[in-house]
Amino acid sequence: CGIVGILGKGPVAGQLVEALKRLEYRGYDSAGVATLEGGGRLTRLRASGKLKNLEEKLAATPLAGAIGIGHTRWATHGKPTENNAHPHAAADRVAVVHNGIIENFRELREELTGRGHKFASETDSEVVAHLVAERLAAGDAPEAAVAAALKRLKGAFALAFLFDDQPDLLIGARRGSPLAVGWSVDGAYLGSDALALAPFATSIAYLDEGDWVALRRDGAQFFDAADMPVERRRLPLTPGS
Ligand code: GLU
Repeated sequence: CGIVGILGKGPVAGQLVEALKRLEYRGYDSAGVATLEGGGRLTRLRASGKLKNLEEKLAATPLAGAIGIGHTRWATHGKPTENNAHPHAAADRVAVVHNGIIENFRELREELTGRGHKFASETDSEVVAHLVAERLAAGDAPEAAVAAALKRLKGAFALAFLFDDQPDLLIGARRGSPLAVGWSVDGAYLGSDALALAPFATSIAYLDEGDWVALRRDGAQFFDAADMPVERRRLPLTPGS
């Protein structure tokens, strides 16, 4: 029900949880984060229930990754278990967080299962990770893999992607659910709303309906639903608001 992504200079897990706390008002039943550990190991920590449960897990298993994504879930497909909590991952290559509903997930899941994909959750969201992983395995760059996957999806979503071999890239996408990008001298951010990013970002830009964005520490490239490069206006954000 809330998503966040951070490209930082040091460990980002604490900031991910802090941003998720600011999205608590949307309601949630489970939460999770994924970071890149040791330069390229996608590592997920997830917990059902309150964010406190996730924080306890993080205290027991600290994550050091300087790039990560996080999620608070309001279950629509699949019970609010740890296994169904986001981020979801495929082939240890890509992790995704999703808000919304993928309406054609049954068809996609059947299609992907037919091509040998094994599913680890009951969610509609997991198909997105597998669609992207399949394009990566076929040799697509992350941007092309995400652009191809987005074209297969029906429904409403905000998405954020993290890749095992990309320590300086997050991809975000928006259709029907809001998503914002933020910047500061310390990093670059993705979030469901300005409130989530307010403790960190000093400027912000909203994705338009259908947009996706390739976010790096030194900049962002926005694309519209037809994959054409577009500019999105960057506005100042008052810190701490
Ligand atoms: N439909 C997805 C799920 O049930 C995402 C729900 C949400 O927006 O949190 O896992």
